[in-house]
Amino acid sequence: MSISSIGIIGGGQLGSMLATAAKKLNIKTVIYSDNPNAPAQNFCDLFYCGKYEDENKINEFLSNVDLVTYEFENIPFETLSIINQNKKVLPKPKINKIVQNRLKEKDFLNKNNIRTTQYASIKNEKDLKSNINLIPGILKTCTLGYDGKGQYKIENIERLESINLDFNNEYILEKIVNLKKEISVIISRFGHKKYEIYEPIENVHEDQILKHSKIPAEISNDILNKSIDWAKLIADELDYIGTLCIEFFIDKNENLYANEIAPRVHNSGHLTINSHNISQFENHIRAICGLEKIETKKIFNAKMINLIGNDITVYRNKKFKDNEFFFDYLKKDIKEKRKMGHFTIIDK
Ligand code: ADP
Ligand code: MG
Repeated sequence: MSISSIGIIGGGQLGSMLATAAKKLNIKTVIYSDNPNAPAQNFCDLFYCGKYEDENKINEFLSNVDLVTYEFENIPFETLSIINQNKKVLPKPKINKIVQNRLKEKDFLNKNNIRTTQYASIKNEKDLKSNINLIPGILKTCTLGYDGKGQYKIENIERLESINLDFNNEYILEKIVNLKKEISVIISRFGHKKYEIYEPIENVHEDQILKHSKIPAEISNDILNKSIDWAKLIADELDYIGTLCIEFFIDKNENLYANEIAPRVHNSGHLTINSHNISQFENHIRAICGLEKIETKKIFNAKMINLIGNDITVYRNKKFKDNEFFFDYLKKDIKEKRKMGHFTIIDK
C-alpha cells in the first residue's frame, strides 16, 4: 500500500522536523500530543490534542492515517499496542518495551556482547548497600528520564544518605565512565541488511543536556568502525525499521561503551538536515513508508549548537550568513533547560 498520511505521536521539535521531511515527500502528517501547546502543530497538516489513554480521541486520530510512528519513546507500551491492532506502528512497539527501561536496555546490549558500563538494579536500600563497588556512579530512574532528569550523581557513600529515594520507582546504578568523549551513531534501517548510516557524531553535554554536536568526530578508526558495527548489530537484533540512534561513551583508555538506544530520530542528528543529501528525518519517513532507499552522502562537515532556555532570544534577532541555519521550535514559553531551537553551521 502506498502511504499518503502518517500519524506521529508526540508534538515536540522532533515531530516538527519529521512533519517537515514528510511534506517534502508529499506525505501528510497528523500529530497526536497531550500538550495543547505542542510546537509541532505549526508544522503538520492536522493536530489532535488528547490524553494517550483516551481511546476515542486516539481512534479519531487513527481514522486519518495509514501508518503510525512516534517521536519519543516514553509513550505507554499499552497505548502503542492498542494502536498497533488497528494501524501499523513503526518502529514496532515491542522495541519500546526494551529501550524505555534502562535496565532492560543494558541487559539487551550485554546479551549481544556490546559493552556498557557496569550497572545494577536498585529496588531498595539493601541493593544500594551491596553495590558500593559502583560508586562513584549515577543513579537513574529506570523509566521516563531524559536530559538528565531523574538522575543523581553519587560521588561517595555519604551522598547516598542525603537523597530520599522513592522506591515505588525502580532504579539503576551505573558506574561513572571516565569520559574522554561522547559520540552517537544514527542509522536508518529499511529491512534486512538494508541501511543508511551516518558517520559518528561527536557530542558535548553540559549539565547532562546535549550542547554541541559536530562531524567529523575526532576519533580513531577502531572506534569509528566498532561504533558502526554495534549500531548495525543493534538495529538488526531489534529488527528495527526507521531511524535509530545509539549514544556511546569513549573513556580515557579508548574503550567504547554503548550508553543509550534512542528508538527515534535524535537531537545529535539535527545537523544532517544541512550536512547530508538526505536527513535523518527524511530517512525515517522513507524507511517506515517503504519508499526508495537513496544512498545517503555527506555534503558538508557541520556543527550544531542547541539553543537552550534564553539562548534563543539573541538568535531570533540575528542576521545569518549563507552557511548558517537557525531553527526556532516555536515553543510558547522560554524555560530554563528547555530546548528552544538549534543553530547549524556548515563548512563550505
Ligand atoms: P538521558 O539522555 O536519557 O538523560 P543519559 O544516560 O544519556 O540519559 O545521561 C545523560 C548524560 O549524562 C550522558 O550523555 C553523559 O554525559 C552523562 N552520563 C550518564 N551516565 C553516565 C555514566 N555512567 N558515566 C559518565 N557519564 C554519564
Ligand atoms: Mg542520553
